[in-house]
Amino acid sequence: MYSVELFPPKTSEGMAKLKHEIERINAVGPQYFSVTYGAGGSTRERTFETVDWLRGQGIDTAPHLACIGSTRDEVREILERYRDQGIRRLVALRGDMPSGMGGGHGGDFRYANELVSFVRSEFGDAFFIEVAAYPEYHPQSGSPARDLENFKRKVEAGADGAITQYFYNADAYFGFVESCREAGIDLPIIPGIMPITNYTQLARFSDACGAEIPRWVRRRLESYGDDVDSIRAFGHEVVLKLCRHLIEGGAPGIHFYTMNQSKPVLRLWEELGLPTSH
Ligand code: FAD
Repeated sequence: MYSVELFPPKTSEGMAKLKHEIERINAVGPQYFSVTYGAGGSTRERTFETVDWLRGQGIDTAPHLACIGSTRDEVREILERYRDQGIRRLVALRGDMPSGMGGGHGGDFRYANELVSFVRSEFGDAFFIEVAAYPEYHPQSGSPARDLENFKRKVEAGADGAITQYFYNADAYFGFVESCREAGIDLPIIPGIMPITNYTQLARFSDACGAEIPRWVRRRLESYGDDVDSIRAFGHEVVLKLCRHLIEGGAPGIHFYTMNQSKPVLRLWEELGLPTSH
């Protein structure tokens, strides 16, 4: 299962550019395109616009749905919309409230397992539900054991598959999968892979979401300063090796965080010889 993730652009120029990038990525035939959703409904209309366009092109689409700060009625309305559009996949998340939008009070959901239960109870098997997994553990989890228990709640609530937070240490992924199997969690866990193209942005994201950039990678990236070509060349080699290691180690696919850029993903796709779904 090889898939890609997009985020909904903020402007019409961004949307025009994204359509072009989607066409290029679609040429290699990813299984589906997922589209992120801002918690509290902060990107609701923009997510719809991106999803509508993808569906209009006949492309398999998996909208993300972050439940924190939303009511059951709001979530039901969104799910009905997607079901009626022929969407059969969903990435079900808690999300993080954007700063300035409150702490998620006023919503009917506290954690992603509650969203998964809600989707299953109201929509049965209408959607293949994927949830988030954290090989380096979620930054708010009390302990790895507690995080694993919480992950298991989502699986028991009815998740069909999981996509991981990005990481650059393959052992973290293999160790996490092993812990899951020991805990009786046997759904497919797809590694989420973030190409390295911009060190400043990557360092900021990684601090926020608790994903570790290994020291040797950080030091090398830092040493290139503003030399974008060297950052990209080194970043490509690191991620290419990581993907090879994961595939050889039995990972059931890869989900690429594209950051709406086709080039880095297309290069990886080609050099890894990934299959097309067309
Ligand atoms: P949960 O599974 O609810 O876990 C959140 C935390 O609470 C964890 O520490 C967990 O251990 C703990 N926990 C879980 N359940 C319980 C429980 N029942 N009792 C006590 N503690 C519990 N964010 C967005 O806003 N929009 C997106 O589109 C988006 N897409 C993502 C896609 C992927 C593949 C990934 C990996 C992340 C994505 N995120 C997105 C980020 C995600 O929303 C954040 O990481 C968020 O902090 C946690 O969401 P979750 O669904 O993993 O939450």
